[in-house]
Amino acid sequence: MAEACPCGSGRAYAACCGPLHAGAPAADAEALMRSRYSAYARGDAGYLLRSWHPATRPARLDLDDGARPVWLGLKVLGHDPAGPDAAEVEFVARYRIGGGSAVRMRERSRFVREDGRWYYLDAIG
Ligand SMILES: [Zn+2]
Repeated sequence: MAEACPCGSGRAYAACCGPLHAGAPAADAEALMRSRYSAYARGDAGYLLRSWHPATRPARLDLDDGARPVWLGLKVLGHDPAGPDAAEVEFVARYRIGGGSAVRMRERSRFVREDGRWYYLDAIG
């Protein structure tokens, strides 16, 4: 059976976030957001940096720095286009670190599109 995509879409990884991780452009901001969650779940720091807007991208991203969270699930609450090349996505991600209890993280992220590709810009709460 095909590997289920970590983003919780119900689709196979190879038909969901996999192609994006391999270099295909995201169809919209929500697809990019899902692919970034999957990259966190799979420990793909390179993809997280590539899909981060250069204006806010950290110099490096060490996912093995300290206790690495186990990502438990993603729920997209809203996808609000803000023009042709900007959008906001609100979501809840759950994770757990070590033997701790599950943490629920709610975030509203901003995304921008440049040269046909979506990038994560920042979180606004
Ligand atoms: Zn996916």
